Amino acid sequence: MPEDMVYYDVAVIGLGATGSAALHRLALRNVHVVGIDARMPGHDRGSSHGETRIIRLGYFEHPSYVPLVREAFTLWRALERETAVNLLMVTGIVEIGAPDCALVRGTLASSQQHRLPHDILDAPALMKRFPAFRVPPDYVGVFQPDAGFLDAEACVAAQVAAARAAGAEILTPCPVLKIEASARGVRIVMANRTIEAGKAVVAAGPWLKTLLPDLPAPVRVTRQVLGWFTPKDAAPFASEKFPIFLFESPHGVHYGFPPNTGGNLKISKHHHFDEAVEPDTCDREVSSRDQQGIRDFITDYLPAADGPMVEAKTCLYTMTPDGDFIIDRLPGNPNIVIASPCSGHGFKFAPVIGDILADLATIGATQRDISRFGLARFR
Ligand SMILES: Cc1cc2nc3c(=O)[nH]c(=O)nc-3n(C[C@H](O)[C@H](O)[C@H](O)COP(=O)(O)OP(=O)(O)OC[C@H]3O[C@@H](n4cnc5c(N)ncnc54)[C@H](O)[C@@H]3O)c2cc1C
Repeated sequence: MPEDMVYYDVAVIGLGATGSAALHRLALRNVHVVGIDARMPGHDRGSSHGETRIIRLGYFEHPSYVPLVREAFTLWRALERETAVNLLMVTGIVEIGAPDCALVRGTLASSQQHRLPHDILDAPALMKRFPAFRVPPDYVGVFQPDAGFLDAEACVAAQVAAARAAGAEILTPCPVLKIEASARGVRIVMANRTIEAGKAVVAAGPWLKTLLPDLPAPVRVTRQVLGWFTPKDAAPFASEKFPIFLFESPHGVHYGFPPNTGGNLKISKHHHFDEAVEPDTCDREVSSRDQQGIRDFITDYLPAADGPMVEAKTCLYTMTPDGDFIIDRLPGNPNIVIASPCSGHGFKFAPVIGDILADLATIGATQRDISRFGLARFR
């Protein structure tokens, strides 16, 4: 190594929700760590922007996520204390659909297996308790009181600030061009400098395969749309009457949040049109067709929200074929730890995944169960 080459124990590449969490958890362990991002943290080109993210315990995707969500709740609250910023609001969640749909079945399976408090509501009880919804007579809702939402941009900012306060260095805007093996670990080549580190944590979100094109993982980047709607009638959206929701219908799975401080409801379609894109050339304009993909649901099932769409944004999912995350070391170079906790549901886990990444980058293993997240499953 040339004598003037700067050396860190760990370099974290990407400072969205995942990388900023890893940076924070590493800094708290007194690791000499640097965080690098091509853009300024909090930007709106990746996956971690757009006002809010749901955090929920009755995990319909698989019950094995529940212990990780529990730990994430604890770590988000700890970050709030550390930074004196409110990040997590508990509102409860109602998950609605036909009794045999994946959303309702999966939520109930997790709730029952992990003995989570929950109420099962038939259609009349659901519309009495949450009058904004118009629900088909055979649908049911599962209400889980412990869910809520995270203030997404504030979470990323808090993680970056807490990491910096704990001693992390930060290089932004600084695109990483290449990561290569070196005698002491890895060499990280940027446009205007090169550094060395013992380990690299790569949390590049939708740019994962741009940075590591040979990564043996068939991920797809998909374009998503967030819409903010002014309700036609605000009364049924009063706080105790309208929690966060997920709703599976013939239109797909839609989700939404209680009114924000401006009185608007953020409502989206999970997976939107499932359109594969490149992160740098993706169309960021929201079209009338995009809006219709959300409004069809609103008209049929949430009519009081059917007012004007006052704001819209695009955002990117990085999807694996099975919807589970990738958290593993790079085959052929164990000094590079890969984290792709997206597939549209990774934000809530950021602090716990950050801590797992800190485990992998320092001691090479973690006590948490990450067996679902290995790269070997794609072989
Ligand atoms: C519309 C939408 C709704 C969602 N809803 C929820 C939800 O309700 N609940 C939930 O838990 N999850 C949700 N998710 C998923 C969650 O937001 C993501 O899992 C999470 O934000 C992923 O964060 P990340 O840090 O991995 O990626 P990103 O936030 O994209 O961060 C990656 C970073 O890497 C940087 N980078 C990339 N390449 C380089 C390079 N070569 N050099 C330097 N830096 C680089 C980028 O600039 C970027 O800042 C949602 C996602 C979207 C898009």
